[in-house]
Amino acid sequence: MLDIKITKIETPKAKPTGALGFGKYFTDHMFMMDFDEGIGWHDARIIPYGPIPMSPASSALHYGAEIFEGMKAYLTKEGKVQLFRPYENAKRLNSSAERLCLPELPVEDFVEAVTTLVNLDRDWVPTEPGTSLYVRPFMIGDDHSLGVHGVHHAIFMVILSPVGSYYKEGLNPVSILIERDDVRVAGKGGTGYTKCGGNYAASTRAGKKAELKGYSQVLWLDAVERKYIEEVGSMNVMFKINGEVVTPALVGSILPGITRKSCIQILQEEGIPVSERRITVDELLKALEDGTLEEAWGTGTAAVISPIGKFVVDGKEFVVNNGEIGKVSQHLYDEITGIQSGKIKDTRDWTL
Ligand code: PMP
Repeated sequence: MLDIKITKIETPKAKPTGALGFGKYFTDHMFMMDFDEGIGWHDARIIPYGPIPMSPASSALHYGAEIFEGMKAYLTKEGKVQLFRPYENAKRLNSSAERLCLPELPVEDFVEAVTTLVNLDRDWVPTEPGTSLYVRPFMIGDDHSLGVHGVHHAIFMVILSPVGSYYKEGLNPVSILIERDDVRVAGKGGTGYTKCGGNYAASTRAGKKAELKGYSQVLWLDAVERKYIEEVGSMNVMFKINGEVVTPALVGSILPGITRKSCIQILQEEGIPVSERRITVDELLKALEDGTLEEAWGTGTAAVISPIGKFVVDGKEFVVNNGEIGKVSQHLYDEITGIQSGKIKDTRDWTL
């Protein structure tokens, strides 16, 4: 167990009023803990939210030694602040840490840090429909040396942000541009399966290009052959083709999403066939043309489910399901947000 020293803010900040957006407001406190080689993790503390002093030589600033997680907390009608599958986030953080040579963190410590902080700032959990408290744990390598080598000093932090819907469209279908030039990350052996900041820095240009053209996000293809579908924006992607749900297999370049995993389990339990396999963009285009693509949607913590109403490729537009929210997308959204918010009984031991 962590011995967390708590220093409370003297004057709590005013809570936001009006639309929350995503990641714009932060709560009163943050969690922080240091790692030093030879000592391990130490000095677990919760302090008022604010800037952190950093050396200009920090390895996080120069070499992108940064990994993060994203999860949501909801206030149930019983007054409990509830988390969704936090141990999965803890395990994925360690998988990212291993890849980037950052120190791993005992999963129990990760969960204790998050639960202690969300309980302290529980007044910040919004209660309007579609809102939640977004939890952002992250770790940086903080060696004050410009040599490129393993990490000797690291910092683990958790910050909290009350959020509304991720896309301005909410659950309404979004338009997606199929990206043929930029790739999200390199292929197998790279960092695609991790949540490291560098992956997101590299994906910004295509996302920006799509937005400028009026689309919400891009559909990423693989880095090697530009042939296989990988993810959509910063979400995993699922297609319902001829009654079967198809989602790209986890081949090393794709983030193993917790929402993806939860959707697959729900669908399989309900007897809907799910195939985790490689799917080419040509197969998607054929299914769009011959009408066998019944639905398409993205899955991820931020938006939970984001139905796709339109794909655009090489200047040609293809409408999915008349641009409407599909049955499976709606069902998965209702089921997962229902469990997260405590409105649907959690029979799978997913909430904490
Ligand atoms: N892919 C990427 C690249 C992501 O950033 C995310 C968001 N974490 C996801 C997929 C979805 O993962 P999860 O369902 O765990 O949020």
